[in-house]
Amino acid sequence: MEGLDERFRRQARNEALFREVNERIAQLGESAQAWSPGGVVEFLCECGVGDGCGERLRIPLHVYESVRTQDDRFVVRPGHETPELEHAVDWTDEYVIVDKVDAAEPVVADDPRGAPSA
Ligand SMILES: [Zn+2]
Repeated sequence: MEGLDERFRRQARNEALFREVNERIAQLGESAQAWSPGGVVEFLCECGVGDGCGERLRIPLHVYESVRTQDDRFVVRPGHETPELEHAVDWTDEYVIVDKVDAAEPVVADDPRGAPSA
């Protein structure tokens, strides 16, 4: 891939991996609203730095679902954005929604739901 260091490619693949984990968390959240009052679910940060930062973020399920409608969007802790890979499109004190730069999109475009990128 042109223009993207191996380091960032690896990180982008990690992000896709954390997305898979969060997809399972979301499925659990949908079937267990009882333990997530207000529909807020604790997800893993998808920044993919190193082996993953291991931090968690609390997101309303409907916000998470809106992120997943595009295969190049991820959710990370504030400050965990990587400018070489993504830019922020929405943010709160708890999480930042990031959109992948064009160079990184092919790496993460195997969305488990087959959602299109925009
Ligand atoms: Zn992180």
